This record gives sequence, C-alpha cells and structure tokens, in this order.
Amino acid sequence: MSEHKDFLRTIVEEDLKSGKYNEVVTRFPPEPNGFPHIGHAKSIAINFGIAKDYKGHCNLRMDDTNPTTEDTKYVEALKEAIEWLGFEWEGEVRFTSDYFPKIYDYAIDLIKMGKAYVDSVNEEEMRELRGTVTEPGRRSKYAERSIEENLDLFERMKNGEFEDGAHVLRAKIDMSAANMKMRDPLMYRIRHAHHFRAGDAWSIYPMYDFAHCLSDYIEGVTHSICTLEFENNRDIYDWVLDTLGLEPPRPYQHEFARLGINYTVMSKRKLLELVEGGQVSGWDDPRMPTIAGYKRRGYTPESIINFCDQIGIAKANSMVDVAQLEFCIRDDLNTKVPRVLCVLDPIKVNIENYEGSEEIEAPYYPHDVPKEGSRKIPFSKEIYIERDDFMENPPKGYFRLTPEQSVRLRHAYIITCKEVIKDDQGNIVEIIATYHPDSKSGEDSSGIKVKSAIQWVSASEAKKVEIRLYDRLFKEEAPEGVEDINPDSLKIIQNALIEPAVITEKCDERYQFERQGYFYADPVDYTDERPVFNKIVGLKDSWGKKSKEKKTTGKTEAKPQEKKVQIDGEVVPMTEAQEKLFTKYTDDLGLNSEVANTLARDDKLSYFYAETLDVLHSPVALANIVANDVARELKTKQLDELSFTPTQIAALIKMVDDETISSKIAKQVFEEMLKTGENPTDIVESKGLIQISDPAVILPIIEEVMEKNPDNVEKFRAGNTKLLGFFVGQVLKATGGKGNPSVVNKLVAQKLRS
Ligand code: ATP
Ligand code: MG
Repeated sequence: MSEHKDFLRTIVEEDLKSGKYNEVVTRFPPEPNGFPHIGHAKSIAINFGIAKDYKGHCNLRMDDTNPTTEDTKYVEALKEAIEWLGFEWEGEVRFTSDYFPKIYDYAIDLIKMGKAYVDSVNEEEMRELRGTVTEPGRRSKYAERSIEENLDLFERMKNGEFEDGAHVLRAKIDMSAANMKMRDPLMYRIRHAHHFRAGDAWSIYPMYDFAHCLSDYIEGVTHSICTLEFENNRDIYDWVLDTLGLEPPRPYQHEFARLGINYTVMSKRKLLELVEGGQVSGWDDPRMPTIAGYKRRGYTPESIINFCDQIGIAKANSMVDVAQLEFCIRDDLNTKVPRVLCVLDPIKVNIENYEGSEEIEAPYYPHDVPKEGSRKIPFSKEIYIERDDFMENPPKGYFRLTPEQSVRLRHAYIITCKEVIKDDQGNIVEIIATYHPDSKSGEDSSGIKVKSAIQWVSASEAKKVEIRLYDRLFKEEAPEGVEDINPDSLKIIQNALIEPAVITEKCDERYQFERQGYFYADPVDYTDERPVFNKIVGLKDSWGKKSKEKKTTGKTEAKPQEKKVQIDGEVVPMTEAQEKLFTKYTDDLGLNSEVANTLARDDKLSYFYAETLDVLHSPVALANIVANDVARELKTKQLDELSFTPTQIAALIKMVDDETISSKIAKQVFEEMLKTGENPTDIVESKGLIQISDPAVILPIIEEVMEKNPDNVEKFRAGNTKLLGFFVGQVLKATGGKGNPSVVNKLVAQKLRS
C-alpha cells in the first residue's frame, strides 16, 4: 500500500469500519473513443490500487453510451494498457451497452413515478428555458404530459419512430435549482446510429448522468471515483439512485483532481487530432503521452505507477512537471539495466602502436547495482569514439581527448592523441593515437592521470544501429494543439555504432548507453539486421536536483545556480563537461549566466569562442558576439562554412575595445563581413568607419545640433535633464554613427551646461 493514506483511502477505510460495505468494489470506466493516456494511468492506479489494498475488486467497464465515436480497437488498447500496468479486472470486461435494457426499465420506473417526462422543445428553446446562474429556469409545457402519454412516446422513441432531436427524456427535478445540472437533466436522446456492440437495436441512447450511476449500482460498485469536473453531476447521481429507492448497498461518488502534465496535450480528442493529422506515427508513437506511447518508448510499468503514487491524490487540479515522470523512469532503470557502449556520432581513431586484437571482459552493471553479468568487448587498432569527445582547441575545463590531454577508453586503455587528419575543408576525419599498454582498466600501473573515460567501439566488430532521439512533442509548456508542436521532437541517427554483445547477446531490452542515456530496443521496428533503439530518457536527474535546491534554499525565485538546468522554464540537463564550462564562464570569465548557458551547451559555439579568446583577451565582448551574431550564423551553417574566422571576430572586437569603432558600427562591419568575407580592419578603413573621438570634430557638430533645437536647450537648462539623451542621440546620428558615444556624452553635457 502507498505510504501515505490519501483522502480516498480514508473514506474507504471508514466505510469498511462502519459496516457500510462488506467489500470494496471500484471500477475504471473509460469511454472507448481513444487510447488511454497517462491521466488514465492515474485513474487506473487509484481504482485498481484501492481495490487491491482493501482486498476488494475493480471492474473494467467500457462506458460506451456514445455510438458514434467508439470502436473495438480502443477497447483492446484499454485492456492492454491495464494489463501492462499490472492490474487485473474482475471477471469479464463490462460494457454499459450490456445494461441498456435494465437502464431502459429504470427510465420507465421514473416515468411511472411521475419523475421523468418526454420533452419536445427544440434545442434553442430548451437552452432559453433553462435560465442562468442568476435566474431560475422554467419548465416547458410538455412537462405536463400524462404518465400514459410519456410512456407511449418513450416507447415510440425507442422503436425509432422519430427523427434525431425530436424528443428527449428528462428527469423532473427542479428548474430553479442552484446547481444548473439539476434543472431537469436529459436522460435519453434519440440517435439513429449504429453502435459497435449493440448494433441497430437502439434508436435511443442514455446520457452519461443516467447511465453511469445505474451501471455502478448494477455492478455493486461501492466507491465511484471520478475526476473533479463531475462534482456538479454528483447531485444527479444521488437523485437518480435515491428516487428509484434502490436496495442497498448503493454507490457514492467521490472526486479527485485530474492529472495534467506540462508540454503535452492530454484529451483523447486532441490526441486523436495528432494521430489523424499525421503529426505522430500513431497512438503508440513514443512521443505520445499515451500508455502505448510510453510503453513503446521504453518506460516500465513500475515507473508509471511510482509516478502516480508520488504525485499523490489531490482535490485541486494542478500541472505536474513532466521532469518528475522522467525522474521516475530514470530512478527505476538505474537499478535494473545493463550499461553498454554506443557511439552516436563516430569519428575514427587509429591506435598506431597497437597490433592484433583482444577481448576485454567488462561487467554489465556498476558496483551499486545488485545484478551480475558481463560481456566481452573486442578491442583493436581501429576504434570509433564520439566526435565531440575530441577537441583540437578545447576551452579550459574540457576533460576529454585533446592533442594535449589523454583520455581513458571505458573499460580499456588510456590513449593519447598524436595527430589529427583533416579533409580539404579542414574537418577532422581521423585521429592518430597511441595507447599505453600498462594502463588497462583494473590493472593500471601507468601513473597517467586522466580526467574522464569515454565510450568507444572497435571498428570491425561494432554493429550499426538506428537511434531515435525524442524531444518534447510540444514547444509550449501549456500547448493548445497542433499549432504548438515542436518541429524537432524526433531526430533519427542512422549510423550509430554499438558494441556487438548488445545485438548478439541481448541480455536485456533496455540499456544504459554510457554517458548518453537510457535506450530501448524498439518493439516494432527492431530486427537483428537493422537494430533500432529508442531513447527513453537522458541521464541527468534535473528534477531531483531542482527540488533539492528548492528545499535547501527554501526560496522559489530563480537562483543563478538553477539557470544551469533551467532556462525559460524548460529543464534540459547539461552534461558534466558543459557544466564545467558553464562554471568557468561565469566564475572565471565573468559572463552572465544566460550567455554562459548558450555557449556551454553548444559545442560549436564553445569551440569558436575558445578560438577567439586565444587571440584576444576580451571574454565578455567576445562572448556576446559569439552567443548572438555567430550563433545565428551557426544555426544554418557548419563551422567551416562560415564567411569569417575566429581571428577576424577577435579583430573586430579589438577595434571596439580600442574605441577605434563604436559597437554600433561593429554590427555594420559584421554584416559586411558576412557578405564579403573581408577583414574587419579593411572594411573599417575602406568605408571610413573609424570612430570619431576628436573633440575638435565633435564640438562643431554639437553646436549645430543645439542651434537647431533652441527650445530643447532652454528646457534642458530649465531643469529637464532627461533631454541629455536626446542631444546625444542627435549628435551621434549626425556623425553617421561614428561618434564615440562616451566622448559625445561628455562633450554634450559640458556644452549644455556652459
Ligand atoms: P479525455 O478528456 O482525455 O478524453 P475522459 O475523462 O473523457 O478523458 P474517460 O475515458 O471518460 O476519459 O475516462 C475514464 C476515467 O479516467 C474517468 O474516470 C476519468 O475521470 C479518468 N480520467 C480521464 N482523464 C484523467 C486525468 N487526466 N487524470 C485522472 N483521471 C482521468
Ligand atoms: Mg470523455
């Protein structure tokens, strides 16, 4: 049982203790008009969970009163989801449609009691007669029909004698009730539609409010648990059961808060739109918040149940951070799955002093996971490592392989880079390295200190695999629909390389690819010839971290510390190396956390930035241009496609630092560099953009501006000092943007005050 007793369990316990019921009976009552989502998982966990905890039982009932939207494929999906989550329903699956004859009889009973009548007003009149929250409603004249007439009409409705909408059956309750739902609610409507189970037997279908309470009663349900939006329906629920004077035990309705998660939509209708619109590959697309989607993505049922337990049962609706669900799956997999090596973006390393081959025995699980098992990893002269685990010109704090810095190959040897081979465009195509024979993992006597261990695969034995990386389906925290779809929610890597044991031994379906995240062999598309893995979740526990930080500081405002993991309310974990870089940028170089964040997270940018720093020590100004202007270019281009070099950017910033040009002119020069690829110093020279700092040139311009604006001069001198900005702006404009702002500022102030 869950550790904390929630309010529903408290009610159940009291009802058992008082002898109101001998056994707890709950039900999960979905409408089979879509695949169940994580919100349904919450309801499933509650209904089945309570029945289990109190040794009662839970029914699965398809609430199939709406003939036009329902389908057996959804019934199957619901059954599958519940079974997968680890629950069992009592007996056969039940269907409200099976109770149609009984429900019909109860309606006849109400008519005979004078408690229900056939109304024949049209929709518009009905709405008008209903009144408003402040005004009571009025009964239609048809409410006066005799019991005989009502019985006759109702039977003919059932026999299909009338058009859709011609008549309805209404409960006769109270047209002035404060609860608008109680103003003679509809119980039956005419619908000439084929029902997926009842066929064409019925021309009338009961409304939810009438069918639901009676279905619960028929099944002997004791606690009818539903979500908050049904709070106002509870009065009808009670009225129907009480008015019919049914034998005890009768059910009572209890409401809890619906589960909402950010960055996704959750109603079946909206999810159906995505499926039908082709925005996703189906109901089980791994980006969908459906149970089938999570299952296909690689989530475990345990992680979803834990999530439902963790968030508890509330009485007020709220939005849960999707990071909390991610925390639960990470937490679950951490203690379960084997660790293996996979390289997503491979670059070849040739170990020139290694001959032959060997197999390295490596455990699948770390020490703190109480599981056993190991595999052999082939090692040879030619291996692949991750492209971004090597940097030729690394920034400080880069811990992986560089020409100056050795690195450990996980489970294997330490290697040192000797040479970098590039293609015509300057792209690195291969790294020549040496290995240190006495540095083998577990028996290292080399004395070499390295700062990190990286994943790798042996070139000839590695297996090619397809990797599907998923991001949030929506870019908005509270998305409305398709218009908020994240266009980059799926990235497919065709040619990742994985160590062979994963494919040949298949010791599990889920793995941790070391340093990459958790992955799942796609249950639909995976074949031995073409293995496909879905990324389940990344490695970093940003949710746990965030809540811990909140706890220790006791404050909710964004701390600079949190900036690292939380930008724009979005939680994307940094890798360890990125965090190091971030800290260096903020603490050593004095960048603000936003700029530091942008640079640290992007290897191209941090690389480019490091190159500029080599030439010029002006960290803040360089960071700003790289994080903004250079970043914009790199969105669509590769480093080697840029029309400027880091050295040129440094030269441009140097001119700003030297006050040769203003930062405004620098923007203009940058635009020119984009177009022509010329050196910034040449551009400044040839276009005459050198900043004007000479008072002899600036003063006459100031005088001219003052002459043209005598009124403002007077106002300034009368005390309106805000006009200083106006004059500075006018003067700078008159210099064509070339005036040195600080000089202009000083001289304008002097002149105006003299
Ligand atoms: P949707 O609006 O997503 O289609 P629904 O409420 O119409 O959902 P039903 O099939 O009628 O879906 O729901 C079956 C059960 O699941 C109901 O008891 C409902 O209250 C519950 N349920 C549906 N969505 C959620 C949710 N987000 N959180 C908790 N329970 C939910
Ligand atoms: Mg619904």
